[in-house]
Amino acid sequence: MSETGYDEWLAALASGEGYYLECDEGHGSLPPRRSCPHCGSPDLRETALPASGTVETYSVVHVAAPTFAGDAPYVSAICDFGGVRLTGVLRGVDADDATVGMTVEADAEARGDAEGDGGGSLVVFRPR
Ligand SMILES: [Zn+2]
Repeated sequence: MSETGYDEWLAALASGEGYYLECDEGHGSLPPRRSCPHCGSPDLRETALPASGTVETYSVVHVAAPTFAGDAPYVSAICDFGGVRLTGVLRGVDADDATVGMTVEADAEARGDAEGDGGGSLVVFRPR
């Protein structure tokens, strides 16, 4: 069982120690989880996140939510990292150049208002 929260998970990702939770059946999920969302197994262990993943799907967001106000347009992507899928923002690529299947690495980046109470971090992907 893992008691780790999502913020702690993002911090680990930012320090290059990303991981995901894996059950005995090999299902991947992200914290916070007390049991596998796929099969209900309570036996979750932290498994190192692969160094690279591939873009599974993406969309170009032209109107940003207030949190991303300075960022539009940006590319929101879902990337396959083997055992688990991550959702985040694709950096370092023009929206026109994003492609399904491109290889990326995952990182975490502080939001612009991280000093405020609505801060925190978000998952970002960069081309490898
Ligand atoms: Zn499972």
